[in-house]
Amino acid sequence: MRRLLPLLAAGTLSAEFPDTVFLHGRVLTLDATERVAEAMAVRDGRLLAVGRDEEVEKWVGPQTAVVDLQGRMVLPGLIETHCHSIGAARAALAADYQELGSLAEIQDWVRRRAAEVPEGQWIEVPRNEITRLRERRFPTPEELDAATTRHPVLFVSVTKSVLNTAGWNALGITREGDAVNGGEVVFENGRPVLMLGGQAALRTLMPQPAAPSPAALRAKLRELHAVYNSVGLTSIFERATDRAGFDLFRDLAAQGELTTRVRGTFRFAAKDAAGVEKYVHSLGLMPGEGDDWVRATCLKITVDGGIHWGTTWLSEPHGAKRTAFYRNTDPAYTGTQSYSEAQMRELFGAANRLGWPISAHVTGDGAAMAVLRAVEAVVAEQPSMRDRRFNLIHCYFPDAAMVALARRVNAGVDTQGYLYYRDADFIARIYGPQWAERFIGLGEWVRGGVPVGLNSDHMIGLDPNHAMNSFNPFLMLWLAVARRDDQGRVHGAHQKLGRLDALRTLTAWAAWLSFDENRLGSLEAGKLADFVVIDRDYLACPEEELRDIRVLRTVVGGRTVWPR
Ligand SMILES: [Zn+2]
Repeated sequence: MRRLLPLLAAGTLSAEFPDTVFLHGRVLTLDATERVAEAMAVRDGRLLAVGRDEEVEKWVGPQTAVVDLQGRMVLPGLIETHCHSIGAARAALAADYQELGSLAEIQDWVRRRAAEVPEGQWIEVPRNEITRLRERRFPTPEELDAATTRHPVLFVSVTKSVLNTAGWNALGITREGDAVNGGEVVFENGRPVLMLGGQAALRTLMPQPAAPSPAALRAKLRELHAVYNSVGLTSIFERATDRAGFDLFRDLAAQGELTTRVRGTFRFAAKDAAGVEKYVHSLGLMPGEGDDWVRATCLKITVDGGIHWGTTWLSEPHGAKRTAFYRNTDPAYTGTQSYSEAQMRELFGAANRLGWPISAHVTGDGAAMAVLRAVEAVVAEQPSMRDRRFNLIHCYFPDAAMVALARRVNAGVDTQGYLYYRDADFIARIYGPQWAERFIGLGEWVRGGVPVGLNSDHMIGLDPNHAMNSFNPFLMLWLAVARRDDQGRVHGAHQKLGRLDALRTLTAWAAWLSFDENRLGSLEAGKLADFVVIDRDYLACPEEELRDIRVLRTVVGGRTVWPR
């Protein structure tokens, strides 16, 4: 028989009984034996015991609450290893988000806005990447004119913008040679069609939403975290926060208002060792500072751009096809390279000496290899660098050499399920099928023994399935297993994962990325009592149903946070 804690076995004081026991479930523990248990006992936010019903039931004390799981399946709490919840809360306070899948949907959205917004006032299309539009291209000014001529309209793809005629007129750009501060305007047949850069100048013309009050931001953040809980998320990595954001989470936790655990990643832009030291000093936090609710875990730099905007750092020139698609100009371009390898060696070495783990935004394979070579060089000088578990963020195109090097330096990966779903078909067409087979290559990482967290990069919108990057973890589990894109196609069947490994990308391996493997990621005595009760059998339901799994109850630290 699996024994409870000794003092429980002695069992005389009610304070030593569990607060709650959960009986008659099917508990997918993800422990070393992959055991499916029936029951759990919880006290003070931790699991006292996980075992068979009769083993756990006998410890029910006079004050112990008993929950009958009625045969439902229980999973370890799901960990979202990459999101921007404060940014998403701010965005939600500024404007409603709408996922738009085609130019016609953009036009319809603009028409609806134009019916509400006073004539002459700017309308900005919600952020939707061109890679995800059915037509897979920028709208033309004429297509935006077709939606309204009485309002200036703006469509932005990070650094590139298209405006309707009223928009170009509002900017004073009507003839070839007219320019915007910091921007370059592309003309075709004498008419402006696209602006490169110039975002700062554009923003000065646009009405800016008032900054939300601290109370409003706090309320919206709580609302969003409740949505996270409703789909089974119990922990998040806030992947680009700062001291103010970290303090906001700590304050919510202190007031008992936090319902997801938060692991803070701090993004900075310094380019040398002195800059890292200055940044760490200004942060005023120790590495690993915090508690089980809110903890500082690592620093982050942004090394390249992204696949949506044509700035990903590849191991080969972008070439004619990608250049035309992104409306870039130089086919020899290999992508944005914000740091040289020498700079990264210096930065990583400085962070490591200060005791800080570090992570890097690397989308392309060129960026990933440059980062890994820099990490390897630091490991040679400072072996403790291996213990910092370097986090490769995004890292879309793994191959055998990259995986082997990541394994050698003890790195882990955070990569995005929804990008595969929405962008793999585009990658196959514009980059080529061999790139699509590598894209979000989960099987490659897992076979190579590199811990990988599958996540959303959620940044805008509150709908779990239709946010700017869906954060529904069951969609991700289905994607990891089925590897179908939104057209139903499979690119690289060898990248599919089995169901337990898929679950590990949202639990055990995710916990490893933030040094939480002794607290989170599986359901075992002594770990934090974070778990999710779901409406069907994760192991046995038809594959197509994985994405439809519903959460019946989400428990964080022994407390039911959803439903509320
Ligand atoms: Zn992100």
